[in-house]
Amino acid sequence: MTTWFDDALQQLAAHHLQRRRRQVAPLHAPAELAPHEEALRATTYLVDGQPRLSFGSNDYLGLSQHPALMAAAHAAIDRYGVGATASPLVCGHSPEHEALEADLARHVGLPRALYFYAGYAANVGAIPALVGKGDAVFSDALNHACIIDGVRLSRAEAHIVPHADLAALETALRASTARRKLVVTDAVFSMDGNVADVPALLALCERFDAMLMIDDAHGFGVLGPQGEGTLAHHGIAGAAGVAPAWQGRLDRLIYMATLGKSAGVAGAFVAGSDRIIEWVMQKARTYMFATAAPAHIAAALRAGVQVIQDEPGRRTHLAALRARLREGLAGCEAIRDGRWRLLPSDTAIQPLVIGSNEAALAVMAALDAQGIWVPAIRPPTVPDGTARLRISLSAAHTAEQVDRLCAALATRPA
Ligand SMILES: *Cc1c(COP(=O)(O)O)cnc(C)c1O
Repeated sequence: MTTWFDDALQQLAAHHLQRRRRQVAPLHAPAELAPHEEALRATTYLVDGQPRLSFGSNDYLGLSQHPALMAAAHAAIDRYGVGATASPLVCGHSPEHEALEADLARHVGLPRALYFYAGYAANVGAIPALVGKGDAVFSDALNHACIIDGVRLSRAEAHIVPHADLAALETALRASTARRKLVVTDAVFSMDGNVADVPALLALCERFDAMLMIDDAHGFGVLGPQGEGTLAHHGIAGAAGVAPAWQGRLDRLIYMATLGKSAGVAGAFVAGSDRIIEWVMQKARTYMFATAAPAHIAAALRAGVQVIQDEPGRRTHLAALRARLREGLAGCEAIRDGRWRLLPSDTAIQPLVIGSNEAALAVMAALDAQGIWVPAIRPPTVPDGTARLRISLSAAHTAEQVDRLCAALATRPA
């Protein structure tokens, strides 16, 4: 009955697809870092006991070890204890959660926000609340796994649209006779780093009377003048409110972003019109039937949203690091001769496509031997034959740390 697991696990190993976890801890406890050790904050870790410079996290702004967030969490623990004790609709919703939702809605410039304990839960819960049997979902081929799972759970008719293909989306929308239509897409694609054309998507959804849901896990905090995310990047809405050209046109929009990446903590939120957010709160099963995140998570996030607004220098520094990395890698032999491909990306995600699983793992191991940790991403996370190093930059990195990565990749023997 159970020996097949051994065969299946061996198959994974044979295809270089068996994953293993590493135990990761900050090299120095963040609370004990001296001023001259700032470069170690949120960049340098013990990975299975070995010190490593990390380019693997989604901590794009370096907030996971920010003193203001840590202090807010400590204070909230002293006030609330450590557990939320129940789901938000029973007795797990604290004043910190309520205030966080108001802060988030104001920050992205939409009427209302609803906080979920995880981004996975937000998508898997919200999509089936928005559409069901008899409806249709139009989902980009490169969407994140939890969007795919949300679509499946919804039982709506699923149309997988070729990546970023507006013409194909238009054709599919025009042909659909479904009762309700939902277009759903990553706003910044998590393994490629490119930004979706949200204005064009919104315009298409207006023409065919569809809803649009965007997942801004990798744009929130990073894009937009105040880190409001992809909507502000496109001049649609942000901390200053809805842009004149888009006023009265965002009722069909459902914005989702995660808070465990650039916001440095954990969880996610869904934002949009009052009526849609009220409905999601009433119907999302991952909201109703899961224990709320503890209040100190919400408190740390409030401090995080404040830092995102108040410290634009983090975004400027991140942009400078991105330029430095791309310039530094331009001289790399494997890129010049076309064996490796650095995908175009204006975000913190800088994917270096290597090709086979085996080759990507070999490059990862060579970097590891030089004290640098960059995760190799393999199928099914990315299409077959496009295994890659997902170099992820953080505002916590220094220019010297980026130079070290470039030098290590340049000297790697072919
Ligand atoms: C990380 C991620 C999620 C899941 O968010 P969690 O908070 O980690 O559960 C959802 N969508 C995208 C695009 C992501 O990258």
